[in-house]
Amino acid sequence: MSSHIMPTYARLSVTFEHGEGAWLWDEKEQRYLDALSGIAVCNLGHAHPAVHEAICQQSAKLLHTSNLYQVASQEKLADKLTEMSGMTNVFFSNSGAEANEAAIKLARKFGHTKGIATPAIIVMEKSFHGRTLATLSATGNAKIQQGFEPLVEGFVRVPYNDIEAIKTVLSENTSIVAILVEPIQGEGGVNIPASNYLNQIRALCDEYDILMTLDEIQTGIGRTGKFLAFQHNGIVPDVCTLAKALGNGVPIGACLAHGKAANLFTAGNHGSTFGGNPLACSAALAVLNTLSDSDLIAQATEKGDAICSAFQEKLQTNPHIVNIRHLGLMIGIELDTPCTKLVALALQKGLLINVTQDKVIRLLPPLIIDASQISQLVETVSTLIQEYTNQ
Ligand SMILES: *Cc1c(COP(=O)(O)O)cnc(C)c1O
Repeated sequence: MSSHIMPTYARLSVTFEHGEGAWLWDEKEQRYLDALSGIAVCNLGHAHPAVHEAICQQSAKLLHTSNLYQVASQEKLADKLTEMSGMTNVFFSNSGAEANEAAIKLARKFGHTKGIATPAIIVMEKSFHGRTLATLSATGNAKIQQGFEPLVEGFVRVPYNDIEAIKTVLSENTSIVAILVEPIQGEGGVNIPASNYLNQIRALCDEYDILMTLDEIQTGIGRTGKFLAFQHNGIVPDVCTLAKALGNGVPIGACLAHGKAANLFTAGNHGSTFGGNPLACSAALAVLNTLSDSDLIAQATEKGDAICSAFQEKLQTNPHIVNIRHLGLMIGIELDTPCTKLVALALQKGLLINVTQDKVIRLLPPLIIDASQISQLVETVSTLIQEYTNQ
């Protein structure tokens, strides 16, 4: 490992060289099953032919011209993205944190147009929104903030999945301009709120004339069995952010807006050198076309249900299981004991998984995972949990 890389990550000692679908191979040609998809990024699996083809074709033509000119693939991607999401306008960035920065700026601009000089945004405990100064300030995790104070002002925190707490803040604080929330908390532990939580937030945002802002960076692009998780609720937010799986590994983020948020930004309000460049947009367009020309999103529901009922069966007698929860292929298995060690143990068995919040095994397999890979995943993880909790 190079000592010239800042040690911001505790990395496992494996280097992957190539992949195909849900498989990865290391330098020694050892094969691994990827049940994490690079943290919900490679939803179509590795080396997907449509994405590969799009990148090759675009790189032979043009990589960059800048946003001083029209960018055809950016326009096509915006058309496709708004059609699939029900949103109307898009700003393209290069990452999730940047998409959230755009959303936070939109909320503040919205507040200023209403004459609110110190606009504030309601955010959640255990949330994760990124590592830039504004997004780490919005994030509900002291470990991520520590050492980087002073934080950006203008965030009011409430518990997740607690609609009464939001109502209390709204009734007391007239500076609130938006609610920023994940439809399911990913880093926070695969926390799935009540099924009408987003509907209630939508109603409150209408009542108080504030922006409903959804961070769908992890839940989006088919992961939960709908293109976007809010589509389970039959609502449309005012702002929605995407990144991770949008480019299937090519860096791209998007801040989508609708209704009263759609035309807040005017020329000069925001920008990005790389955002919406031809290469990233071509890759993302290939991702969206692949999803809309297939039933992979519906498969996320079937596969997620199959995986979790298999886990329920295999683990039902294990007293250390707190619960097994999922929506589509966003899966959390919570133990009553810290289990971060399982990540390295799984790697030894040729399987990539993640543990978040110390006790929650997080599985984010690619949407293209097949039946025999699902069996292998369930078998390996169940056995690991049984061995681990038996000692
Ligand atoms: C990953 C993630 C982010 C940050 O995205 P980056 O591309 O790492 O900046 C923000 N919000 C959520 C919900 C995420 O999962």
